Amino acid sequence: MSRTVLVTGGAGFIGSHLVERLLERGDEVYVVDDLSTGRLENLKAVRSHPSLRLIVDSIMNWPMMHDVVGKVDAVYHLAAAVGVKKIMEEPVATITTNVRGTEIVLDCCHRHGAALFLASTSEIYGKAGGRLHEEHDRIMGSTSRRRWAYACTKVLDEFLGLAYHEEHGLPVTIGRFFNTVGPRQRGRWGMVVPRFVGQALAGEPITVYGTGEQSRSFLHVDDAVRAVMGLVDGIEDSAGEVFNIGCEAEITIRALAEQVKARTGSPSQVELVPYEKAYGEGFEDMERRQPDAAKLRAFLDWHPTKGLDEIIDEVAAHLQGEGEAAPAGALPG
Ligand code: UDP
Repeated sequence: MSRTVLVTGGAGFIGSHLVERLLERGDEVYVVDDLSTGRLENLKAVRSHPSLRLIVDSIMNWPMMHDVVGKVDAVYHLAAAVGVKKIMEEPVATITTNVRGTEIVLDCCHRHGAALFLASTSEIYGKAGGRLHEEHDRIMGSTSRRRWAYACTKVLDEFLGLAYHEEHGLPVTIGRFFNTVGPRQRGRWGMVVPRFVGQALAGEPITVYGTGEQSRSFLHVDDAVRAVMGLVDGIEDSAGEVFNIGCEAEITIRALAEQVKARTGSPSQVELVPYEKAYGEGFEDMERRQPDAAKLRAFLDWHPTKGLDEIIDEVAAHLQGEGEAAPAGALPG
């Protein structure tokens, strides 16, 4: 089934992997990316592909978006301000991009009848611990805690997407990405796996924030992309639904640091860094964030195929290939 599609944020980490797979199967792919966190290097392997149309511009450019969405059958909306550190440093840009940008995408899809995959995030569950299924209650911190601004923008995106589906019949499917990792992810905006691997390769201290007892569940980007494509291919049935996209296996951050150190054979020490030193004031972390992926499994017969060792190996190979052993623009600590 080859089609014409748009990937917003297609030069980003997840977006660029998605673009490669879509081109591989014969789709004509438009990419809109303002390169704020995305990078042209991410699309290196497909830059000269005859079916790739790259537009370096912002999703806020409504006339441009109107024009592009008019040419496609489906939109994968991945463009967003992401990364905990970015949210802490640039709250105005984060809120504006994530709310107004999605409003524009939804309006364009509605006008042109394009199907839509809306990227959301496990951040929307906030501090709700335990195993998180799609209907789980959300627990957010106070508005003085900046971190939650990101989650709230994505909650609003979800409400708006579901409203377009219910009120206007727009085929919209929402995917909540849990911690997604793999080659091309950068440590600059907080992401723990490329940071730890970069530190380990450089022989620098591996910086575990807080006690390191907080846990996360990591999914390889290839498995995430397979889920996204399956959901859009089956949009007649997935429309109006929200799906967790994540791996159910959990690991504490301290154990992750030890595994990265062992797997890369690094002499680095594992160092505990207080949160205030890492992120400044106004930061709250969550203790656990484990998806319940039963809904996705039932819908797609989907299972993660790559474990943490393979992820660490691929991230290490990528960083070494880029000559980026130490994470560029590292956070303090
Ligand atoms: N983290 C850490 N050291 C780092 C970067 C992150 O210990 O250098 C921790 C962070 O505080 C969080 C976890 O690793 O508990 C995952 O952080 P990330 O930013 O990758 O994703 P999050 O799940 O917080 O969105």
